[in-house]
Amino acid sequence: MNVLVLNSGSSSLKFQVIATDLEHIRRDADERLCRGYVERIGGEAIITLETRNAPRKKVTAPIRNISAALDYVLRWLASEQSGVSEIRSLSDVHAIGHRVVHGGELFRESAVVTDEVLKGIEDCIDLAPLHNPNNVKGILAAREAFGHGMPQVAVFDTAFHTSIPDKAYLYAMPYHLYARHRIRRYGFHGTSNRYVAYRYRMIRQLTKEQTNVVILHLGNGCSATAIRNGKSVDTSMGMTPLEGLVMGTRSGDLDPAILSLIATKEGLSTTEVEAMLNTQCGLLGISGVTNDMRVLLKELKEHDDRRIRLAIEIFCHRARKYIGALLASMGGADAVIFTGGIGENAPEIRSRICEGLEWTGLTIDAAQNDGIMSKEAMISTGDSRLQAWVIPTDEELLIARDTVRCILGEPHP
Ligand code: ADP
Repeated sequence: MNVLVLNSGSSSLKFQVIATDLEHIRRDADERLCRGYVERIGGEAIITLETRNAPRKKVTAPIRNISAALDYVLRWLASEQSGVSEIRSLSDVHAIGHRVVHGGELFRESAVVTDEVLKGIEDCIDLAPLHNPNNVKGILAAREAFGHGMPQVAVFDTAFHTSIPDKAYLYAMPYHLYARHRIRRYGFHGTSNRYVAYRYRMIRQLTKEQTNVVILHLGNGCSATAIRNGKSVDTSMGMTPLEGLVMGTRSGDLDPAILSLIATKEGLSTTEVEAMLNTQCGLLGISGVTNDMRVLLKELKEHDDRRIRLAIEIFCHRARKYIGALLASMGGADAVIFTGGIGENAPEIRSRICEGLEWTGLTIDAAQNDGIMSKEAMISTGDSRLQAWVIPTDEELLIARDTVRCILGEPHP
């Protein structure tokens, strides 16, 4: 089955085509046929296209909206130029899997998109006003392009965290605020967590019930999640992805009273303060230079700038603190796993985060850690009671696999 995986954002559309079916999944033999990224939708868009056997190509074109972006991608996909020999016309696309950010309390697992499911995703717009409307647009654009008969599946970022118990998901506020408005911790990066936990148990040959880990997903967005007996039991992101770790441009945890203080002192509305906390804070806000960890590490080496050093120190300190908190929350774990752009590619950040965690039983093997980028490996010493691992995430692959499983009515592992 050729599955088109779509991730529709406010001004971007990411896609991949993955050939997979139950046999591919069993043998771990799925094939990624192509991938691409349309950014700056709404103006002169930049389109990056990559096929298995061809070099990456970048072009620009005026693209109005997600629907036009999808049309562009589909025309390319079905053309000779794409070099995707498995897809000669749109009828060679057999199913579509969508990343959907918020499934609220409604969706505990991935679901085939019906009118009822679409309404459910729309009902969650209140919870994720920045994200869910774009996901809905992506689904409608695909319906328009392929017709109602094309099976579409929604894979939710929040679904994996629906196992978190109420003592961990409720905020200590008047209970009616939860009852009336569903204000609670939902957690995100669930698809990434599920994939990484799955890979860990495959590598270590464990059952789901034997999987007890803390996963640090460190990308542009960052989160830490406690997984006990294969299930999410606590996580750092909250009602929205703003809570928890220091991120590229998000503040993570802060005293909620700061919001009205900033609003008063800086003459901003609460909406403007919230936008600032999402886009101007984190690594970017502290360093004043960039949200890009790779650039920060390079600059630090070359100039030893105080604010850059501080940004990295605060980032690592918060992550270390969350490891401790989640270990306590879940009653101990067997491993800490790093994933995401920073987690997979920045050995220095991994070792800084783990510095001083020896009391937990975790000791990083410096030589082993230094050499690991973008591949699965254990990076703790052989005698560590708490192991450390790097496991690259692959959300698109899990979305493609869930799409196949949902369509065939197979249970989720
Ligand atoms: P997203 O959350 O948008 O999917 P990624 O998971 O790709 O983002 O992570 C992006 C982050 O990973 C950026 O801060 C980037 O600088 C960082 N990163 C990527 N490669 C490296 C590297 N070699 N060293 C340090 N940081 C890196």
